[in-house]
Amino acid sequence: MNDFGIFTGYTYDIVFCHLFFLTDTPDGIYNIWKDQPKENIAMDWLENDAGKALHEMMHINLITEDRPHIIDQRYQGKRVYGSAMVAEWVTQYKANPGDVITNADSYTQFVNAIFFKNKFGFLPPPTRESPLVPQLHCGGEDDRYSDSSIAERHVGPFCEKLGDTYQVNTRGELAEQYDEGKPEHVEMRAVWKHPTRLQPDDVEAQCKESLLRTIHGCDTNSHWKHGGVQTWGDESYSYFFTPKHDRPSQPDKVPGKCDVWYKFWYDEFYIYGGGWAGHDHGQEKLLPNLRRCGVVSEWRFDYYPDIRNDGVEWEAYGRLPIGPQQWDCVRQAVVDSGGPSDIGCGGS
Ligand SMILES: [Zn+2]
Repeated sequence: MNDFGIFTGYTYDIVFCHLFFLTDTPDGIYNIWKDQPKENIAMDWLENDAGKALHEMMHINLITEDRPHIIDQRYQGKRVYGSAMVAEWVTQYKANPGDVITNADSYTQFVNAIFFKNKFGFLPPPTRESPLVPQLHCGGEDDRYSDSSIAERHVGPFCEKLGDTYQVNTRGELAEQYDEGKPEHVEMRAVWKHPTRLQPDDVEAQCKESLLRTIHGCDTNSHWKHGGVQTWGDESYSYFFTPKHDRPSQPDKVPGKCDVWYKFWYDEFYIYGGGWAGHDHGQEKLLPNLRRCGVVSEWRFDYYPDIRNDGVEWEAYGRLPIGPQQWDCVRQAVVDSGGPSDIGCGGS
């Protein structure tokens, strides 16, 4: 026993290498960062000499006494050391609490967090996210493409769903299929990687902006879109738009054909198309536009099991009241629904 009543039957040595003596004090570090924008400040830039000394002292049984001996736990083959790794180990890997409290750097990170939270008035995140700079990569296969106006329709619903799904400080993925089983089948996908700091509303807005870019920023001379991905900040956030259905080689012009036949009591029409008006069985555009020609009866809209070589993917049929104006009226309905602008309706 020494004069202070502490048993000193053996001694402890902590050896610091020269880097330790170049490491700043907690107050010194705070002064460096205190005028920086909030989004630039992260715990991994706030490592300090006191925290490192505390780490080494936590290994000493004289300090922990009869509590469990504190070691450096390992995660993915490395010592659990530093704010980024401790945070990932605890929040993502969901480390066993017994392991967390017997890991020396857990204490350093805990003490640093309290200290800097008091100093800054907020708790800086474990690591600084890379600056969120967008990068667009266009891609896709030649035989997979989608009409831009059809793809665009899915951006809103997808990104709203993402806003409801995504949570701050998680990693995850959301993928949704649209018009599955039809030539218009596309996939919208978002991937976010740790550490993500954006709020759900910001992610929703980022999603909309990004997916519209993958549609309108790629294949800019054509309304046929092969898809792409827009990433932000070293792939912290990625947004993919991918057409999923094989189609014939991209047509030079929009596939379409129409025939109107006079049947004494009615006129009937056959419309053949691909890549336009087809995502919803013609419900949104083609049928309403045809109704300008009169009451449409016997309406049918069928997808071919295989896309024809001329790019035709579906066939629509219906009947209209008779009249010589119907050839031009049906033609105009096709054009106004996204069909070929130079189409003429055959038949007799
Ligand atoms: Zn250690």
